[in-house]
Amino acid sequence: MKKAPQVVLPGATIGVLGSGQLGRMFAIAARRMGYRVHTYSPDRDTPTGQIADIEIDAPYEDLDRVRQFAAAVDVVTFEFENVPAATAEAAAQCALVRPAGEVLHITQHRLREKTFLQKHGFPVTRFEAIREPEDICRIVPDFGPAILKTAGFGYDGKGQYRVKNLAEAQKAWDAMGRQEAVLEAVVDFEAELSMIGVRGADGACVFFTPSCNHHVNGILDVSYAPTPFGPHVIRNAAAITEGILEQLDVTGVLCVEFFLTRNEELLVNELAPRPHNSGHLTIDACVTSQFEQQLRSVCGLPLGGVEMLRAAAMANLLGDLWSKGEPDWTAALALPDVKLHLYGKLEPRAARKMGHFTATAASARRAEDLVRTARSYCGRD
Ligand code: AMP
Repeated sequence: MKKAPQVVLPGATIGVLGSGQLGRMFAIAARRMGYRVHTYSPDRDTPTGQIADIEIDAPYEDLDRVRQFAAAVDVVTFEFENVPAATAEAAAQCALVRPAGEVLHITQHRLREKTFLQKHGFPVTRFEAIREPEDICRIVPDFGPAILKTAGFGYDGKGQYRVKNLAEAQKAWDAMGRQEAVLEAVVDFEAELSMIGVRGADGACVFFTPSCNHHVNGILDVSYAPTPFGPHVIRNAAAITEGILEQLDVTGVLCVEFFLTRNEELLVNELAPRPHNSGHLTIDACVTSQFEQQLRSVCGLPLGGVEMLRAAAMANLLGDLWSKGEPDWTAALALPDVKLHLYGKLEPRAARKMGHFTATAASARRAEDLVRTARSYCGRD
């Protein structure tokens, strides 16, 4: 149903909860369109703060400070879903918050997320909740190869253990401090792909061309688009993404990460109610980037075109690449179709996302070759 959107026009101020690279790329899009940006997080000189007009460095738990932050802006959004729900609620007392805090509450907890998906008929891999020692003994023996994941605050493969039997499962659960967890069947997938959907404040939805994703050590390494899969796979991914956007009543961006099984069935792995690493290539390859779409949707503006102007690939640049100091980017930048994005992070720790390369080309395969080549010139691939 069409709703009359509350519109926040350029010149207004947007508040971003969180201050990492997603907030940075959002803030760049917002400033380009004439908005002011305030960011709030417990850190200083952050990727987002370096672009924003005002950077507030305070704990998420300081709800009075959060209310003060929200009262000074026209709309609040967040750059990652692990902002505490109470923080989003406090912001909502003083400003419009998009997407709503309920979306955070569901997507920041694997068990809530998977239960929500299953309840509404979206396809997920088999899973069971682990809360008590008895759960492990009862569930693991007839489960087969599985992955034990913490229920809360997991990302980039953190808090995950592959387990083959009861002893391994018990050891893994002990290692995660016996906190609430999800046991999930290992999917023998053909590919991992993600679809980014955007829902405007009036309920209209658009979908980017999905990306194919390769992970290394549980962290996204390379994405490329378009994928080689048939139109029925893409249509199915869009239909599932649209259903979730509507069921969650999202105003904003939602990335759905899928496993594509060997018989071309799609299973939802994870949701991210925000721009996603696999969508960074939209900055250089699409009419409108995922960050501009986030801006347009949270401001109640019409959404932009999602067409890909060229095939593209993205390779993440992790802190490991800085082991001998700042990499020499010169050779990579001599490739005319390669773009460098750095996030302004001050400390290049191992496995930390410091930036990415995007390459555009006539085919996704060529673009993937190019980003890998570019990265190899800086010491990897
Ligand atoms: P996640 O943080 O849950 O997205 O997991 C990170 C990565 O681990 C995924 O992108 C997959 O490559 C792998 N993974 C996670 N869950 C499963 C599963 N049930 N079966 C196979 N691989 C998985």
